[in-house]
Amino acid sequence: MAERKYLIAGNWKMNLDVKSAAELARGVVARAARFRNVEIVVCPSPVLIPAVAKILEGSNVGLGGQDVSVQVSGAYTGETSADQLLSAGCGYVIVGHSERREYHFESDELVNGKVKRALASGLVPIFCVGEKLAERKAGKTFERIDRQVRVGLSGLDAAAMATVVIAYEPVWAIGTGEVATPEQAEEVHEFIRGVLKSMFGAEVAAATRILYGGSVKAENARDLMGRPDVDGALVGGASLKADSFGGIIEGTGV
Ligand code: PEP
Repeated sequence: MAERKYLIAGNWKMNLDVKSAAELARGVVARAARFRNVEIVVCPSPVLIPAVAKILEGSNVGLGGQDVSVQVSGAYTGETSADQLLSAGCGYVIVGHSERREYHFESDELVNGKVKRALASGLVPIFCVGEKLAERKAGKTFERIDRQVRVGLSGLDAAAMATVVIAYEPVWAIGTGEVATPEQAEEVHEFIRGVLKSMFGAEVAAATRILYGGSVKAENARDLMGRPDVDGALVGGASLKADSFGGIIEGTGV
């Protein structure tokens, strides 16, 4: 089986200011230093990226954006381009987060455009998928995930897929304190790997990292990441404290 390095990414969302983000970044750098076999990333708001980038310099903590424009550049007020993220020191970008899908009406097709735009600039997309509670209750989880993955990654070839990271984030578990059980997470991760296999072949499917996101904490991280198809975590709330984020990194057990 392909070696998949754990990836732990913190989504700081619209929290912190320049001073508190710098403090948190220092704390993460200190706790991350001994984990050389885990990829660690933090994703601050665009305005905080320059201050955080300075602190991450020379560390083993990577930097990512929380969203990216589908456009290259120009008159798109309020948007941030992939090249701007790259030039500010980002190597990653979250794409298709459920909060973008919900509050900004991002469709699977738009998310696909953003994945491609990120890749074209050399950023690693952390491509998010996940069902809503009503979809899970209606037995439509796999149908929803299947569409999100197939449309979100359509038009990519195996070489492009080599850099894409997928995050399975059940919407009902984000910020709610209600975490998917390790069995629920594994079941969907395994399903996603099957979809990847049918789209890109067995080798790509085995090599692609699939993160779990949704109320991950130090206390539940180890069980989740102990599952064979769970390759790390996308963390919201618990990434805002260096100790809890550090505890989640520790949960990789490597
Ligand atoms: C997220 O928003 O990506 C997330 C997983 O949030 P939380 O950890 O707070 O549920």
